[in-house]
Amino acid sequence: MFRFAPSLTGDMHIGDLRAALFNYICAKQQNDKFIVRIEDIYKKRNIEDKDILNILTIFGITYDHVYYQSDNFKYHLQFASTLLDEKKAFMCFCNTYELEAKKELAKQEKSAYKYDGTCENLNRDDIIESTKPSVIRIKKPRVDISFSDTIKGNLTFLKDSIDSFIILRVDKYPTYNFACAIDDMLQGVTYVIREEDHLSNTPKQEHVRHSLGYNEKIQYVHLPIILNSTGKKMIKEDDVSRVQWLLDQGYIPEAIINYLILLGNKTPKEIFTLSEALEWFDIKIISKLPVKFDLDKLKFLNKEHIKLLSDEELAKRVGYSSKNIGKIAKLYAKEKSTTFEIKQKIDALFAKKKTDGKYSENLAVLKNIIKDSPQFEEFDEFKRHLMQKSGFKGKFLFKPLEILLTNSENGPELAVLYPLIKNYIKEITQ
Ligand code: GLU
Repeated sequence: MFRFAPSLTGDMHIGDLRAALFNYICAKQQNDKFIVRIEDIYKKRNIEDKDILNILTIFGITYDHVYYQSDNFKYHLQFASTLLDEKKAFMCFCNTYELEAKKELAKQEKSAYKYDGTCENLNRDDIIESTKPSVIRIKKPRVDISFSDTIKGNLTFLKDSIDSFIILRVDKYPTYNFACAIDDMLQGVTYVIREEDHLSNTPKQEHVRHSLGYNEKIQYVHLPIILNSTGKKMIKEDDVSRVQWLLDQGYIPEAIINYLILLGNKTPKEIFTLSEALEWFDIKIISKLPVKFDLDKLKFLNKEHIKLLSDEELAKRVGYSSKNIGKIAKLYAKEKSTTFEIKQKIDALFAKKKTDGKYSENLAVLKNIIKDSPQFEEFDEFKRHLMQKSGFKGKFLFKPLEILLTNSENGPELAVLYPLIKNYIKEITQ
């Protein structure tokens, strides 16, 4: 069982999409199930679950089931209580602010903060009599924790590197590690593909499951972090890291998928579709090293994938429905790399034309002639008719005509464009 477990705390990050994609591919390749678990337990929500599910649909990432972490809330509480009963967890009354201060100090001294165990051995009376707010901590592991990672190999975390960490907070909500470990256990997850940032969480999650007596093996894949163009870890504030931003800029899902599969990977070809990648994608050979996000490379792939779309499909992607608009879009795709830029060009064809430029008088004359003209099938006939009626020649005919038809002085060749726009000529030149 594979899973993708997004939180609702921000726009979907490109790293989240990569995790979802790789889980989807591996599940398909192994003929296994793939579930989405929306980690909605915290009240701090910035986005809706439908934002995430919509993005998965846009990218063709299908799943067998959607779970909501909040539905498991009762189990999180029950398992915390089991751990308390079995003395594998304890209530902690330490002052959160004081602990935070200690944590901060440790950070400044560049050492890892670990809970010192103050409340681990409180007696019953101390606990009952205490009026202080409390959290529940799981007792630190007594043995080292090992697990297998497909990219990094077998990893072992020494028992002393993990402290007695919080599983239920003061507000009695489970912490991420506790809820995640229980959900993976209840949902029968056997593969976890996620970003490398979670590597330090993995031993804690393993420890929770082992403490509950659950020893089903999970195979991990911690994907290398994605760096931005300055070589720093890409954060949610980097525009390019937000999937919705990329879509809004006109990067098409096919190209983004291609790019994510290519990132830090050896593939048999450079341009491919998701269904082709399903045939040969091998998660074992993904780079261990951080990978740099290169927008120029994505732009290049985007251009190539736009060329691969059918005319009808491209028309749709730029907000139109006619096949001819798709053909015009293909003309613009020779110089533009995103559907957003292409759409701007197509919209400009139908927009009101600039009539105050260098050729404004000629443009006004041509506009009037076209208004009263019949429709011409061929560009040559159309051109001859305009020449005859206006008496304009050379650039005095072609420059204003180009502006009138394309809203630009260097649009596609008119002879090529004309057959595609002849049906809309009055609309365009109005
Ligand atoms: N909700 C966490 C995140 O989005 C879960 C990660 C995971 O365990 O896969 O980072």
